[in-house]
Parts: sequence; C-alpha cells; structure tokens
Amino acid sequence: MALRTAEEYKAGLRDNRNVFILGQKVPDVTEDPYIKVGVETAAFDFMMGHDPVMSKITVMKDPETGEPVSTYFEVPDYPESVQKRHELIINACYFAEGALPFVKDVGSDIINGLTAVAKIMGNPSYIRRINDYRWHCARKDLSIAGLVTDVKGDRSKGPSEQKTPDYYLRVVDESADEIVVSGAKAHITAGAYVDEFLVIPTRNMSEAEGDYAVAFAIPANTKGITQMCRPNFRYEDKYHFPTPTPKRGHIESLVVFDNVRVPKERVFILREWQFAQYVAYAFSAFHRYTAVTYKIPILEYMTGLGLLAAEANGIEKASHVRERFIEMIKYTETTKALAKAAYSSPENFGGSGLYVASRLNSNMAKLHFASNFHEFVRNIQDLAGGLLVTQPTYQDWKHKELRPYLEKYMGGGGNFTAEERLKLMSMLHHIVASDFAGWHEVCTIHAEGSFAAQKMMLFAEAPMNMYKDRAKEVVGLNV
Ligand SMILES: Cc1cc2nc3c(=O)[nH]c(=O)nc-3n(C[C@H](O)[C@H](O)[C@H](O)COP(=O)(O)OP(=O)(O)OC[C@H]3O[C@@H](n4cnc5c(N)ncnc54)[C@H](O)[C@@H]3O)c2cc1C
Repeated sequence: MALRTAEEYKAGLRDNRNVFILGQKVPDVTEDPYIKVGVETAAFDFMMGHDPVMSKITVMKDPETGEPVSTYFEVPDYPESVQKRHELIINACYFAEGALPFVKDVGSDIINGLTAVAKIMGNPSYIRRINDYRWHCARKDLSIAGLVTDVKGDRSKGPSEQKTPDYYLRVVDESADEIVVSGAKAHITAGAYVDEFLVIPTRNMSEAEGDYAVAFAIPANTKGITQMCRPNFRYEDKYHFPTPTPKRGHIESLVVFDNVRVPKERVFILREWQFAQYVAYAFSAFHRYTAVTYKIPILEYMTGLGLLAAEANGIEKASHVRERFIEMIKYTETTKALAKAAYSSPENFGGSGLYVASRLNSNMAKLHFASNFHEFVRNIQDLAGGLLVTQPTYQDWKHKELRPYLEKYMGGGGNFTAEERLKLMSMLHHIVASDFAGWHEVCTIHAEGSFAAQKMMLFAEAPMNMYKDRAKEVVGLNV
C-alpha cells in the first residue's frame, strides 16, 4: 500500500470506534467540533508524504519492497539516524504551522524501545514480532498512539497493593493464541484519531506483578475499548480573530480496556516482570528527545509573539522590556542548544545497536524547558498587557456599530493598526491566557514525563564518578 493521503487517513477513522466526548458517543471523530482540531493536525502527517519538498525528509524506501514508506519507521541502527530524526520532527512542526502532527512519533519511539529491549533480552520471538509490527505499520501507513501511563491510584503503592487490581492494566486471561487484558490508560494523546494503540508498562513490577508486565498492539476500534475525551477548543473558532489556517492542537483520552482480546502475534512482553521498567526506560530514552525537538518551533513562535506584543504596545525600546526579551531569547536558545547537544552525541542504547540522542542532554533539555516555561509565559503576558483577557472578541469587530469604536480606540505602537493589534492579542490570548494555554502549561510539566522522571534519568546518566574523580585529584584524596 502506498503512503496514504489525508483523506484516506480520515476515512480510516470512520470505523465504529467507541469514543465519547461531553458524555455523548461520537459518531464520526473527523466531524466532531473538538476532536476535529486533532484530526486536522494529525492530517499534516499524511500531507507531508505527498509534498514535493517535505517528502524528501519524510519518505524513505521500504528496505524490502522498495516502496515509499514514512521515515518515522526507519530502524535507527546508525548514529546519524538520530540527527535525521531531529530534522524529520522539526520540519514536520514547521510544515504543520507550529504543531506536531504527533501520530507516528510516540508509536515509533515505542517500537524502537521495544526493539532494543527484545534484542537486549535476546528473545527471537519478540524480535520477530516487533519487527513485523514495525513494517506492518509502515506498509499500511498507520497512525499510532502510545499508551504508557496507567491511572495508578495511590502513587505510593505498586500495582498489586492497590484498592483495585485494575489501577494498572493487566492480563486477566490467556489461551494458546491470545491474551485478554483489562485496565485503563490515561491522558492518551490522539487516542481518538489513530489507527493503532501500542501499550507498554509505565513502571517497575515485582515478581508478584507479572500479569502487569505486558506490552502489545491492537487496532483502536477493537471490541472492549472505550475512550473518553475532553474538549480543548473548537475547530470552528468564532471567538478569536481568524488566522490563515485554523488553529492546531491535540486531544487526549482516557482509554478503558474491558476484557480486550489481543492475539499473541501482537504481544511484545508477557510476564517478564524484570523488564517492565526497562521497557518504560527504553521508550523514554527515545521519546524524551522527540519531546524536546518538537518544543523548539513552539518556543520560536512564542518568542516572536512576545516581541511583536511589545511592538504593538510601542514599548520595545524600554530597558525593562529589553530585559524581558533577553530572558525569552535565553530560554528559547538554551533549549535549542541542549537539543542540538543531544542529537550531536548519539548513543548505542544498551548495546542493542539502536541509537538514541544523548540521554543526559535530552533530559537536561526537557528539564530546562519544563522548569522555565511558566516564567517564559509570564514574560509574554507582561509585555502584552491586560487586553490578553479583556479584549473585545472577533464578533464585536465584525459588528458594524462596534467596529468604528474598536478602530478608534484599539490602535497601538509602530505600524500596528487597531485590527493588527487586536489580531495579535487574539492569538496571544489563545496561546498564553486561554483554557488551552492552561492545558499547555500542564502539558509542559507532565507530558513526556514529569520533573521527577527527568531527574531520575539525570541521576542515572550524569557522570558522577568523573565529577568526584576530578575533585579528588584537586584535593589529593584517596577515598
Ligand atoms: C497533555 C498530556 C499529554 C500526555 N500524553 C500521553 C500519551 O500520549 N501517552 C501516555 O502514556 N501518557 C501521556 N501523558 C501522561 C504523562 O506522561 C503523565 O501525566 C506523567 O507521566 C505524570 O503522570 P501523572 O499524570 O499520573 O501524574 P503523577 O505521576 O500522579 O504526578 C503527580 C506528582 O506526584 C509525584 N509522584 C508520582 N508518583 C510518586 C511516588 N511514587 N512517590 C512520590 N511522588 C510521586 C510526581 O513526581 C508529581 O510531582 C500525557 C500527559 C499530558 C499532561
């Protein structure tokens, strides 16, 4: 099968999947006013393959058949593949006007993590299955969500100590050809509008928790799966000033598995509890770098919005404003530099022959990004002023009696007309002062792992002994 078009991708989503939003069953996710935001953002992935410029980056030859397939499915078995992936993701974001299409990134990061772990385990059956699955997705040009985060209940307790055994997804039955699973995975990006679910454990497991040590793939419309989405913002946005293309973003779901049957050919880990944490770790090693890469275009245009807000208010030459500029530029460029440092030092993950970006630098980049984002937003809010939350809406601008007042009173600095200033403030509202902006702040902290997850990886990867040896040399210690 050739690379799909955006229309073919959307047609594939009309498959009776069991998706709910606002307490209502969604008959067609491609037409729901909220989920459509995500569908149209994801659709860019399928446009890239047919774009003459982008396809040079996003399309490769299937090594077996020679047919064109998405570069996301490339096996990263050479060091330069890491920088290639950086170029793929960052250009995908520029192509999608600042938002990542995000329907092959997480999935292929998990495929890479599972491939590395299967090799490290030396399990030929798992190696074959995950390899078959990689090329199944590539040849059918499928979109995939990554289902990692369990609902977890009491965080201080392991899966087997919880009030209910289903706070972590687990195997509840098994036959020769299939397993049956129950449980729920939370916050799943794009779950409502992907073809496939790829499920892995989220944490370490004890010997008594073997049933929870399971990784598998399943089509998103499989019987027994129910998804609940919450609205983010509407595709048809009457509130903000229109932009050249509709706004982009994604929708998450809570995905419930109620006795779902999974064929064993799609099971990649089963009861190897000793490897549960390593699977989660391997996925993070690949995925955290994806995360920092796609942040870069977002930070670039947000910095631009802050600079323009100052110009629109005529304050760009004031010294305290230039201090704000320096803070924003420092933040954005440090994140970029750390991302570059990460892809410039590829590592052979666990000796598996698969390459990841430097884990130390990837985690530094993500931690830097997440730790300073709120201050970055505060700087933009400060420059833009109170209009961010009080400005009249686009509907007022369109009203024939109100518009002359807005034209008269809403002008600002430099070359900004009232319309241009309001347009800018309208976008700024969306990005730093709306419900979506609140979502973005939380996303920054928790998506792709919370602060603690990055700090754990820093401890694991930082050259602690090297630091101490340097100090011992200086002091003359023999301890
Ligand atoms: C917008 C968004 C998109 C996401 N997309 C996906 C996705 O596509 N797929 C997916 O699988 N996940 C996804 N996630 C989930 C994300 O990885 C988690 O939110 C993150 O790992 C934190 O888990 P949590 O939300 O359960 O919070 P918690 O783990 O409950 O964290 C809350 C606080 O509790 C602390 N804490 C947690 N456990 C312990 C403990 N044992 N002891 C002490 N302190 C503890 C944490 O450090 C943190 O400070 C997404 C999240 C967001 C916000």
